[in-house]
Amino acid sequence: MRHFEYKNGEYYCEDVPLSTIAKEVGTPFYCYSHATLSRHYDVFDKAFETIPHLICFAVKANSNLSVLKIFSKLGGGADIVSGGELFRALKAGMEPGKIVFAGVGKKKDEIKSALEAGILMFNVESSQELLAIDTVAAELGVKAKVALRVNPNVDPQTHPYISTGLKENKFGINYDSAFEEYRQASALDNIEVVGAHMHIGSQITQITPFVDALDKTLALVRGLENEGINIQYIDVGGGLGITYNDEAPPHPKELAEAIAPLLKDSGRTIIFEPGRVIAGNAGALVTSVMYTKINEGKTFYIVDAAMNDLARPSLYGSYQGIVPLDEDTTSRKKVSADVVGPICESGDFLAKDRILPVLKQGEMIAVMSAGAYGFTMSSNYNSRPRVPEILVNGSQFNIIRERETYDDLVRGETVPDYLK
Ligand SMILES: *Cc1c(COP(=O)(O)O)cnc(C)c1O
Repeated sequence: MRHFEYKNGEYYCEDVPLSTIAKEVGTPFYCYSHATLSRHYDVFDKAFETIPHLICFAVKANSNLSVLKIFSKLGGGADIVSGGELFRALKAGMEPGKIVFAGVGKKKDEIKSALEAGILMFNVESSQELLAIDTVAAELGVKAKVALRVNPNVDPQTHPYISTGLKENKFGINYDSAFEEYRQASALDNIEVVGAHMHIGSQITQITPFVDALDKTLALVRGLENEGINIQYIDVGGGLGITYNDEAPPHPKELAEAIAPLLKDSGRTIIFEPGRVIAGNAGALVTSVMYTKINEGKTFYIVDAAMNDLARPSLYGSYQGIVPLDEDTTSRKKVSADVVGPICESGDFLAKDRILPVLKQGEMIAVMSAGAYGFTMSSNYNSRPRVPEILVNGSQFNIIRERETYDDLVRGETVPDYLK
């Protein structure tokens, strides 16, 4: 069931026409569907019901407090990569015992906050980091629970910027040295080894890379157990892809059918860190066509959202669907057009050479699949206030983050006296 669709000639999110929201908050804005977010979480949760599991939503995909709250209420946890994300996860009511902390550059104060909160485990990415965690844990007089993030050297066959499990990537610990690292970790006074972690990339549309990586991780885990190092949690990371255009990623159920048998009866808990697959298609960025023009025979739709609001097209050349809010437009003549923002960069586009109906000045479009890595990657480039986020639930909608003001833009800036 789709929660973004045309009804009565207008594009809706659940039971609310997107144009109604635009009337209240203006454009651009991000809009998320509560029904989609919770359904995607449930689908994932159900897929793995045959084995003990924990779903830790990857906060970097969408870190709005209300969005995190949806998952915490459904019993989910959080996968965090910074102290800021820890702050958000706790503020959203996530149980500390359901929070896992990854990232290659954890700072000591971030480690300290996570230990004080009592998170489930650190996913450790280097031996120096391990020593830093041991030191901070000693200072606090606690034992830090860790998994080592093992780099299984599996090609996820995705965009190079979002592939993380190849041996040349900056992430994790080399597969070949992982065994020795585990030995050293288990010898440290303030470290308790509890898990093994992998995360091989994002927007993965095949099952094989997951199975291959998990096979390698499990081989390591069996070796560790022979040494008396017990691994309670297997964290397989995130990375399952979604349909932006014509990709056909596996359903979470297919993934479950492929990997659950490998883990069944092991007594271990499996952890997932899905981000994109939960939130990506649960959100859209709604924007207005401010101007249309034809340069050298090429049609440009200049819209009020830009690369600072949604970075994916300019960052990865990625495809985001474009849907006009008014269904009448779909019967119009089609043109090949670039949808571009107001930013002074040629890389500022949301769609390139896209076949779209002829659009008129003032009409609105929804940029689809923008619920993950949309708002969270936005910036204030060109001194553009960040746009509001809206959560739709049935026929009700709430502003879950206000549009920034010009005062927000200069907050924290001070001019030294000699310049006054
Ligand atoms: C980004 C990230 C995820 C989420 O990836 P998705 O592709 O959005 O599912 C999970 N785990 C870690 C460690 C990550 O860095």
